[in-house]
Amino acid sequence: MSIRKIAVEEAFTFDRLADSQHAMEAAMNPAWAAYVGERIADLVDLRLREMDDEGIDVQVLSLTSPGIQGMTDAADAVATAREANDLVAAVVRDHPTRFAAFAALACQDPAAAVAELERAVCDLGLRGALINGHTMGSYLDEPAYWDLWEAAEALGVPIYIHPTDPPAPIASCVGYPLDRAAWGWAFETGSHALRLVLAGVFDRFPDATVMLGHMGELLPYSLARLDDRYDFYEANPKLEHPPSHYVKHNVVVTTSGVNDAAPLQCALDVMGADRVLFAVDYPYQRNADAVAFMDEVDISDADRALVCHENAERILGLPTET
Ligand code: MN
Repeated sequence: MSIRKIAVEEAFTFDRLADSQHAMEAAMNPAWAAYVGERIADLVDLRLREMDDEGIDVQVLSLTSPGIQGMTDAADAVATAREANDLVAAVVRDHPTRFAAFAALACQDPAAAVAELERAVCDLGLRGALINGHTMGSYLDEPAYWDLWEAAEALGVPIYIHPTDPPAPIASCVGYPLDRAAWGWAFETGSHALRLVLAGVFDRFPDATVMLGHMGELLPYSLARLDDRYDFYEANPKLEHPPSHYVKHNVVVTTSGVNDAAPLQCALDVMGADRVLFAVDYPYQRNADAVAFMDEVDISDADRALVCHENAERILGLPTET
């Protein structure tokens, strides 16, 4: 029997964001666009059937990228985030053993984002927030968001930073679809996390937790060089610890979209097995591929149990059995 799987980066959308979703799907090949399009707004029927058939016990749901972060009108963003959170909370209430969820937050209005995080966690029972990267070029290291980090730390919930397109094209990627999920998103999102480190967010809020997908968005591979060149460049701010300390203490990573043994082993070695969580990235990836990889990859059974469900149960406060 396959080990219990809690998948923690599992996307949905709803009618208010249909235009944004269609724009994302237009960049995919037709077969993948159809696969995603059939599944992304289905929150129960097809989703649960595929979870049953393909070996996913629990999905932790989140609003797909760019979601609220792609909205230009702040009041509309605040209202849409509330609507998304109410919708997903109702799904979790109907299926409490199969779904949990992260809140969407409108960073366009930082005070509203704090209030919505508190409402989502305390009133709706959501497990933290997932923010789709920068909001119109504004990153979460800015002092305007320190109240958000303070609230997340006080509530004891993580903030998942999910990739999105960079605010402007990365010059070396122009001409190919490299800005996106294949490559640029990892650099963009890993850089976002490093901005938090260098801004001293984790000196100020030492118990805050960031979640990063895609086996850590290049960070586990890069810590020695980050520390080495932190000393080398005079312009670096003076932190209480070298950058690697914060990645190891304030970041947890997920396996979303990376069914590959070598990067998993790197993440386990660098982060520790208690800071790596299973994720599929449904419906942009297939459940069955991630399940087969995680069941078969050559790691210890103790580590497999941590990654597949025990870390999610501990970090997200999820029930340990159904
Ligand atoms: Mn994703």
